[in-house]
Amino acid sequence: MNIIDIINKKRKCGILTDEEIKYVIDGYLNGEIKDYQMSSLLMAILINDMDNSEIYSLTKYMAESGDRLDLSPLGDNVVDKHSTGGVGDKTTLIVAPIAASCGVKVAKMSGRGLGHTGGTIDKLEAIPGFTVNLTEEEFINQVNDIGVAITSQTENIAIADKKIYALRDVTGTVESIPLIASSIMSKKIALGAKKLVLDVKVGKGALIKNITDAKRLSNLMISIGRENHIEVICVLTNMDIPLGNNIGNALEVSEAIEILKDHKQGHLRDLCVELASHMVSLGLNISYEEAKEKVLNNLDNGEAYNKLLELIKYQHGNIDELPVESNKYEIKSMTKGYLVDIDAYKLGVLSMSLGAGRKNKEDTIDYSAGIIVNKNIDDYVNVGDIVMTLYTNKEITEIDNSIFKISDEKIENNKLIYEIIK
Ligand code: URA
Repeated sequence: MNIIDIINKKRKCGILTDEEIKYVIDGYLNGEIKDYQMSSLLMAILINDMDNSEIYSLTKYMAESGDRLDLSPLGDNVVDKHSTGGVGDKTTLIVAPIAASCGVKVAKMSGRGLGHTGGTIDKLEAIPGFTVNLTEEEFINQVNDIGVAITSQTENIAIADKKIYALRDVTGTVESIPLIASSIMSKKIALGAKKLVLDVKVGKGALIKNITDAKRLSNLMISIGRENHIEVICVLTNMDIPLGNNIGNALEVSEAIEILKDHKQGHLRDLCVELASHMVSLGLNISYEEAKEKVLNNLDNGEAYNKLLELIKYQHGNIDELPVESNKYEIKSMTKGYLVDIDAYKLGVLSMSLGAGRKNKEDTIDYSAGIIVNKNIDDYVNVGDIVMTLYTNKEITEIDNSIFKISDEKIENNKLIYEIIK
């Protein structure tokens, strides 16, 4: 077998065999297959697609390329949650404590942000003292003790995915449905939970730009889950506009607290209620309606907020000392009308340029930097109203006027949740 033949086969739309895919993953990990050869194969996959048998094999060998966590000592009500990535997406900080407060065990390994999207681990690191590097033993003990732990994904989980993802990131091959499905599901298989809620983001600020692709990705991840005895629910959600009002690490932690402690209403809370209800329904084997009642109760009575405080304390964080940025710049509207669009992608890029994210892996983050969007979709805006506030240590240059769209008429389709697929 050789890699040139495999690249040529995929270039001509051939179906790779299980053995060929194993050869590729093994060869890439041991260095026999070079980055330039792998890039070429990834591009052929992006252009010519893969069928289900190829995707199952790819997922299997990527999952087997590193350690596998055994969560069986935690029982069968362990639920994982994952988002395909977006702007202002702080849902894990909210739904993990909600679900845990309802009796579900949440053992969550999360990642860092890259480019315009954020990562849960960076957000948690904005809390002074918060430990994001738990050992496997500490992680499992903590879930046993308080029902929830969030830690950084260890280096040894799905090693092939890590190496391939880094290559995809710099070769224009991220946006391939087979590659996204196998990347996400290989990690989920290795992480060991048998129940999984996936928030599949669709729109301008997401990897997946349209519903047709989101449905295909969801159905694929559900069938990979089935093959691996993982029950998967996909919630397809709108990422044309950012989630909630705050973007940037400490600012997003503050907004999570506003939802859990101060009962802030709106899109972000609605989405968290939906995701947490599916987690609780799966974890406790109860109906969605019953689960939703528990979720709403625990949001109202403060149990979910108490669980967040317990989680932060257990991982040594101090929530009273969130970093605050002293330099702030208010951006005012130059027109009047209804706010009909907030471009999530452009806001993500702006937030990164303010210091809240990394352009390159080695960049350091300013945890206090970011953006508060002061208006919501369909709000009426007058000339001179503040539409967003920027927090940064950097010099502000020109702000792109096309981030916000203001119109004489409200928008008709302002949907948050497009579809649930099981
Ligand atoms: N998230 C992942 O983990 N992998 C992808 O390929 C895309 C999003």
